[in-house]
Amino acid sequence: MSRSESARTARERRDGAGPFPSYRLKAWESDFPGLVCGITEAGPDADFGAPGNGARDFVPRVGRLACQLGFRAAVWTRQIHGAAVCRADGSPETGFESAGEADGLLAGRANLLLLVIVADCVPLYVVDPDHRAIMLLHAGWRGAAAGILGHGLSAMREAYGSKPSALRLHLGPAICGGCYEVGAEVLRTFGRQAGSPGRLDLRGKLVGQALGHGVSPDRISRSGWCTRCAGDRFYSHRGSQGGSGRMAAFLGWLDPG
Ligand SMILES: [Zn+2]
Repeated sequence: MSRSESARTARERRDGAGPFPSYRLKAWESDFPGLVCGITEAGPDADFGAPGNGARDFVPRVGRLACQLGFRAAVWTRQIHGAAVCRADGSPETGFESAGEADGLLAGRANLLLLVIVADCVPLYVVDPDHRAIMLLHAGWRGAAAGILGHGLSAMREAYGSKPSALRLHLGPAICGGCYEVGAEVLRTFGRQAGSPGRLDLRGKLVGQALGHGVSPDRISRSGWCTRCAGDRFYSHRGSQGGSGRMAAFLGWLDPG
């Protein structure tokens, strides 16, 4: 890993409250009162795979998760490993719905829970404390290579005036560089001279991209968890040869007023 791809490690802590135990980014939740940030744990009734992707009852499950976290509204997207993000400020005040086809969501209002569905891909959390705006991205190698982070940061600037240097950014539980072997063509996508398969630290690549977009190195953190080598806490697409479930990564701002 080059220096430009390293970042401080922040390990999410387990919160056993039900029905969905989760891993919460306590550092952010204490820095920003009202912020809710984390990812669900794998479990018998905790598969957040999208409808048509094997998981049944997706919407009622999202409703239970939102309720557990204190929200009456939640929004997700139909994820296609692209670079498009969707501004969710027009979502209903109550209810649970898809915002359409995209791989990221941003919002500048409270009491709306953003969700992305992952199992090895990177859930990438962004907070703009100055404007109380948030963004949550689903970044697999395709989305990262297509520049979803840059698109998302541009969308935040356009929508809320967010300056990259003022943002906080966290790369959540995802497959680690030691576990993620990819083909030479993928490595070449990220600028590596490769003639054979090799290992890819996707979170490291995203850290490098964030720095390139002007995010401050001391405002970036990455999870200590790998979805594949952390045992059965998380679902891992690679670890199960593609057959396992999916976690819901979540980010929202609760405003009790
Ligand atoms: Zn690993």
